Amino acid sequence: MTPDHVIVAGAGPTGLALAAELALARVRCTILEKRADLPNITRAFGVNARTLELLDSRGLAGEVISRGNKVPRAQANVGVYVDFSKLASRYPFMLIVPQSGTEGVLEERCRALDVTIERGAEVVGVRQDDDWVDVEIEGPDGRRVERAAYLVGCDGAHSTVREQVGARFVGERYDVNLLLADVRLSDPPSEVLFGRANAAGIQLLIPFGDGFHRSISFLHGAAPGDQPPTLDEVRRVTRQIAGSDYGMTEARWMSRFHSERKQAEHYRFGRVLLAGDAAHVHSPAGAQGMNTGIGDATNLGWKLAATVHGTAPAWLLDTYEAERHPVGERVLKVTDRMFRMVMMRSGLLQRLARVAMRLAFRIEPVQRVPRTFLSGIGTSYPPDGDRPHRLAGTYAPDVTLGGIRLAEALRTGRFVLLDTTSAHAAADLAGKEYADQVVTLTGSDGGLPAVMLVRPDGYVAWATDDHGGAAVAAGQALARWLGREA
Ligand SMILES: Cc1cc2nc3c(=O)[nH]c(=O)nc-3n(C[C@H](O)[C@H](O)[C@H](O)COP(=O)(O)OP(=O)(O)OC[C@H]3O[C@@H](n4cnc5c(N)ncnc54)[C@H](O)[C@@H]3O)c2cc1C
Repeated sequence: MTPDHVIVAGAGPTGLALAAELALARVRCTILEKRADLPNITRAFGVNARTLELLDSRGLAGEVISRGNKVPRAQANVGVYVDFSKLASRYPFMLIVPQSGTEGVLEERCRALDVTIERGAEVVGVRQDDDWVDVEIEGPDGRRVERAAYLVGCDGAHSTVREQVGARFVGERYDVNLLLADVRLSDPPSEVLFGRANAAGIQLLIPFGDGFHRSISFLHGAAPGDQPPTLDEVRRVTRQIAGSDYGMTEARWMSRFHSERKQAEHYRFGRVLLAGDAAHVHSPAGAQGMNTGIGDATNLGWKLAATVHGTAPAWLLDTYEAERHPVGERVLKVTDRMFRMVMMRSGLLQRLARVAMRLAFRIEPVQRVPRTFLSGIGTSYPPDGDRPHRLAGTYAPDVTLGGIRLAEALRTGRFVLLDTTSAHAAADLAGKEYADQVVTLTGSDGGLPAVMLVRPDGYVAWATDDHGGAAVAAGQALARWLGREA
């Protein structure tokens, strides 16, 4: 008999978000994390609007927001701003919150939903057949093997799971030296998201809120050997790019990183799947990595849960790769363009690019392109069916029907069927035949389709504007998405 247990490798933001999704859908789930200590080093700071919408649909957005600062506009280049305040979202800003803060909220959620998190447990081997996957684990008490129905590798850029299944990780390494330091500034800049660029590189300074700032320097060329960075080096580089070191007096942590642009050719290998940095890595320009990882997790969670419970149609799990691989590919492409533009070596070309961007970004349709990309709200999936509704595959508008907000109805982790017809026959059918899988909302709203079926991750599965035939068509859509199609 196939086990009903899922193992998630890695307790970064992707692994925690995925485990919480699985547990919400009542799947038994263990996270194996090789680090015995807490917390993960903070890398990500920017949480975008789509991630906040997804967190809202699980009741977690408020808690993450309370740990950060809202930034209504971010600097794309010197004097060039992306204005998030015009976003068509409940969250028209970029939230600046240390990655440890977001992970803290996700970990609390996992614990509340009884996810087992085993620290000091490293995945070192993977074997699978048609019925299960055997995971070899190196822990404090030696090696052991655990059997699961599925294994998801959320084990970061140097993923062991990816290597064990023989996935090709295709791309390149940037010729850039990334210098990270947590420094005390006696005279910090006033901007919450401070950024400067010149021919030497890019300098960012982001406050932790405890007197320390994260200094991130992107410098041309390879790192100077394996030498650890020094405070003097961080100070010198900051002055070189930003013109001042802002009274840098002390560093509590320093490290060097390399930046890569790579994507796994596939995200699914039988009973083993990849998500987050294990599936795609790219330059930190644009603050997309963690956001994309959480997007992978919310896309995969409900599909994998339905597959484990045996209620998923046979095609459903493969839509994870079909939907998320193109999203990762686009993130790699756009962040690569952004990174190459700000890292241009020629001072003249840099100045020209800045002037061109300043002029272009004043034009609203041009502004909309980076705003939509950076906020993640442009993410949609190929629509299902032959003659799909215009909303199919897009993120559902956060409407209120019959006094209940859609994001709140989604907190059950189930599909939501919105029925605006006067007869409510589609809602009656869903309530009678799919009560444990679908939440129904009824009411009148002229701006909405007659009936709309929203997936547990908030994207529209199916919709119709035909009030007369809505009930029959909804019955077919429910059967298709909930695995009861003949
Ligand atoms: C300087 C910098 C700034 C960034 N800023 C942003 C930003 O503003 N916004 C944004 O969205 N992204 C940002 N990113 C990217 C973001 O940090 C990553 O995309 C994100 O951490 C990926 O999450 P993850 O859970 O997929 O992987 P990770 O965070 O790498 O977590 C993987 C986990 O798996 C564990 N692990 C590894 N191997 C094993 C194993 N064999 N067995 C068990 N456990 C294992 C690791 O210990 C780790 O805890 C930034 C990155 C950098 C470097």
